[in-house]
Parts: sequence; structure tokens; C-alpha cells
Amino acid sequence: MDHLFSSQLYQKIAQNAAHIDHEGCFPEQEFKLIAEAGLLEIVLPSHSLDFSQRKNHGLLMLLKAIGKASLPVGRIYEGHINALYLIYLFGKTEQKQRWFADVILGKKMFSVWNTQDMEGVRIYDLGNGKYRLQGCKTFCSGASRIARPLVTGELVSARKKGWQMVIIPTEKVKEIKMDNSFWKPLGMRASASFRMDFSGIEISENDLLGLPDAYYQQPHFSGGALRFAAVQLGGAEALLDETHKFLRGLKRTDDPFQRARIAEIAYLTETGNLWIKQAGLKTDDSTENPEAIAQLLAYVNMTRTMVEEICLRSMQLAERSVGARGLMRPNPMERIHRDLTTYLRQPAPDATLTAIGEYVLKQESTTGIWDSLSKKSS
Ligand SMILES: Cc1cc2nc3c(=O)[nH]c(=O)nc-3n(C[C@H](O)[C@H](O)[C@H](O)COP(=O)(O)OP(=O)(O)OC[C@H]3O[C@@H](n4cnc5c(N)ncnc54)[C@H](O)[C@@H]3O)c2cc1C
Repeated sequence: MDHLFSSQLYQKIAQNAAHIDHEGCFPEQEFKLIAEAGLLEIVLPSHSLDFSQRKNHGLLMLLKAIGKASLPVGRIYEGHINALYLIYLFGKTEQKQRWFADVILGKKMFSVWNTQDMEGVRIYDLGNGKYRLQGCKTFCSGASRIARPLVTGELVSARKKGWQMVIIPTEKVKEIKMDNSFWKPLGMRASASFRMDFSGIEISENDLLGLPDAYYQQPHFSGGALRFAAVQLGGAEALLDETHKFLRGLKRTDDPFQRARIAEIAYLTETGNLWIKQAGLKTDDSTENPEAIAQLLAYVNMTRTMVEEICLRSMQLAERSVGARGLMRPNPMERIHRDLTTYLRQPAPDATLTAIGEYVLKQESTTGIWDSLSKKSS
């Protein structure tokens, strides 16, 4: 698996990160390289990080490495992996064959678009295995460059109800209307996270993925936070690298304050690595037992919250270390800082924190609270 971490690919992505840092841009060259390196299909059956082999730690390290090179590229890649995971979990055999071939042979990109505002998506059952979509999604990373967007919406049908996943074969349906005026962010510009309007798009029964509400099935729904946390941690590691380079370049390495600050960034990022590793291993070891799922979710929630804290604190320490001139282009710190600030805003951080507290307080005792449940029962 070492070839996944060969630095050349990441160096090329990092070197181009400043050029793609504008609204409306999509990292074309980066995804060409990622496709050539075989990373689009890396999690599919019989590939190095095959989901069924439970190699979460390796996958998280890959996501971190891409995030370290470029957070917008990491975000889009993470969306692709998230969609493939949902297919792995909920796809029928024929669907898996079709969509996996789209990745392996067609080098097609997938993504998951769930976030929406008041005009969210509804999926109308027209009968005869046909469905029509109505409404919009916001923050659609990759926008029109995604050939196979996985879109969620409320199913409106006499036969079934719930939050339905569909995968749109974009070249076979009418054009999805794209609103890039939505996307005026502080950072993450090249993630091209536009607003997309699916009104009038017609799809077939075999474009529906899983049963209604499968999308929210735990531990998969909340457990996915580990993947974005890994990408975010890559951003903190990039700040460590840049601060290190900056201080050595200015020969400011003997100063005790600079030593103290870089010490803190170093141990914080390594703390993040330990959390990600442990949470990845716990995910790999998890069982279907409801108690084990509840514990895993609390652990993932802690990891995600901790990584956010680590990133926020590392940004502050790095800013103080490099000062105003270090936060000026062409120094990459300015961009990484904006990207990380934006990408750290993920769904429901408050609810995530209180869910951890709820789990802890529900336990009769905190002794051995995070021990694996199989160990506890032995
Ligand atoms: C770069 C980027 C790319 C993205 N790409 C995608 C994508 O491809 N697909 C996708 O589906 N999504 C995507 N998203 C959206 C992402 O998953 C989150 O949904 C989004 O970032 C959360 O937005 P917000 O911080 O404005 O959320 P909010 O939910 O508004 O949260 C803001 C704050 O309000 C709190 N809060 C939340 N609800 C309530 C409430 N009811 N009452 C009081 N307080 C509340 C939160 O805890 C938080 O502190 C992307 C986001 C970013 C930044």
C-alpha cells in the first residue's frame, strides 16, 4: 500500500493549489492525476483499500495525504469515496456492477449531495418505474464535473416514503441547472460547491439506491465524519509543515516562544493522528450490536470534535508564529488558513458535542467506557 503515499502525486497537487484557488475553478489536472494513480477505484472490490477488507486506517491516511496537499481536492475526493461507500453498503448486485464499471472503465466521479435549504429535493413517483425530481441542493462539491452525483430527497409515492438516495446518470438526463453565484466562500473555492437545481430531471427505478431512509442508517451516517476529519487533519499538518519551513527560513528556531508554539502544533497534529487511527481501528472492529454501534458513534463524534479543536488551535498558533508577513500570498499559509476555516464548518457540531455528553452520562460508570464491547463481555 506504500505506493499510495508516494509523495510525487501529493507534491504535484500541492504545487498547483494556489492556481486553482478561485471561484468557478475545478481541479481538473488533479483529478486526472488521481485517476491515473488508480485512486478513484482504490476502495472497490479487490483493490488495495477494498471496503470489504475493513482497511479504514489506510483509507483515512490516504484522505489526510490528499487533504494536506489541497483541502478542496481532498473534499471532492472524499465525496467520491462517500458515494462509493453508500453503493457498497446499499447497492444491488447489478447496480454495483454498473456503477463500479463507471469508475474503473469510465473514470467517472461520484459525489454525495445531501445539504439543502428551503427548496429541497422531492422525488415524485410517476409510476411505471419512472421518477421526477423537483428542487435544489446547496454545497454540491464538484458541481457539473460530477458525472454520477448521489442526491437525496423526500420520496413522494403512494407505495413508500422516506429519504431516498438516487444516483443520476448525468449524460442520460436533461442538464442539471447550476447556480455558481451561490458560491462566494472565504476558502475552499476550488471545491466548486455550487447550488444545483434538479427540477424536471427524470430517472428510473434502477437509479434509486437503497430503501428510503437507508442514507441515515447508523453507524454509517455519522461514522462518515471520520473521513472529513482525516482530510481536515491534513490541513493542520500542512500548517505545521509551512510554519516549520517559515521559521527555519528566517532562522527563528532558537527563540523559546517559537519553539513552544511549534511544539504545540506538533503534538496536537500527532494527537489528531492517534485519534484518527484509533477511531479507524474501532470502525474496522465494529459489530452490528446496538451497544457497540452507540459506543462507536460517540467515539467518532469525539474524534471529529477533537480534530476540529486541533485544527482551530493549530491555525492560531501558526498565525502567531509566522506573523502578518507569513499570512501574505504567495505564502501558502494564507490559503490553507482560509480553506481550513471554511472546511471545518461541517454539519451539526453542537449536536455532535451534546451527543457525546448524552452517551457518557447514560453509562452507569465511566470505568472502561471506551473498551471494546467484545473485550468487556469476555
Ligand atoms: C467546502 C464545503 C463543501 C461542501 N460540500 C458538500 C457536498 O458536496 N454535499 C453536501 O451534502 N454538503 C456539502 N457541504 C455542506 C456541509 O456538509 C454542511 O452541511 C455545511 O457546511 C453546514 O453549514 P453551516 O455551518 O452553515 O450549518 P448550520 O447547520 O447552519 O450550522 C451553523 C451553526 O448553527 C448550529 N445549528 C445547527 N442547527 C441549529 C438549530 N436548529 N438551531 C440552532 N443552532 C443550530 C450548528 O451546530 C452550528 O454551530 C459542504 C460544505 C463546505 C464548507
